[in-house]
Amino acid sequence: MPTIKAPEASFESRQEKALLVHARLCTEYGAPFRFFSTKDPLSELVSALLSHRTRNQDSHRAYQQLVARFPTWDLVRDAPTEEVQAAISPCTWPEQKAPRIQAVLREISERCGGPCDLAFLADKSVKEARAWLESISGVGPKTSAAVLLFSKLRIAAMPVDSHHHRVAQRLGLIGPKVGEGAAHALLEALLPPDWDAQQVYDHHEAFMYHGQKCCYFHTPACGRCVVLDQCPFGQERVR
Ligand code: SF4
Repeated sequence: MPTIKAPEASFESRQEKALLVHARLCTEYGAPFRFFSTKDPLSELVSALLSHRTRNQDSHRAYQQLVARFPTWDLVRDAPTEEVQAAISPCTWPEQKAPRIQAVLREISERCGGPCDLAFLADKSVKEARAWLESISGVGPKTSAAVLLFSKLRIAAMPVDSHHHRVAQRLGLIGPKVGEGAAHALLEALLPPDWDAQQVYDHHEAFMYHGQKCCYFHTPACGRCVVLDQCPFGQERVR
């Protein structure tokens, strides 16, 4: 497997490449993509906390059991931790996630001075909303962007998951030492600032699908990749 090299291109040529790759991947995977969630932002945040290193079907079951057992997030916040833990037992590490979710809910209530709710984020800019969420202990850029974009707020913040990160690195949009957290600001800076939530969502989903369906972790299928001509890593592999 070739090593990933530092991107040599200027910022402008990386911007150009990001848009070209976006267009090709959106065509390849059939954008515009339908948003998969209509949760309110707080429900999306709890769902994201449950999903950490957990299979989708297990975190979904944990979430469903939690909302069936506790009709409001205030009730989850104030419940005995063992009951929350029991409700989310299908996900990984329920003994860590239950107190963590309750601590996050308490922090939100204290800061907002009322019932647990994040609807007020709709009135903030993307930057302000992200900063507010990321000031909660343990909430990083991927979770904050997921809450803002995937929830019914539909705010144009871009999450970068492991597939998106790997594809961007191999294409040379970010350097080989840039981690997933730092990649958020660097990759977002390459996109037009006036893109709406659907465009940002399409960009994220198209990169993610490419990572799932072609640019595999171990053996990427460079020979059938629609952006091979843009990818220094892939070109070295097929040489
Ligand atoms: S050419 Fe290969 S490494 Fe590059 S994006 Fe395509 S599949 Fe991934």
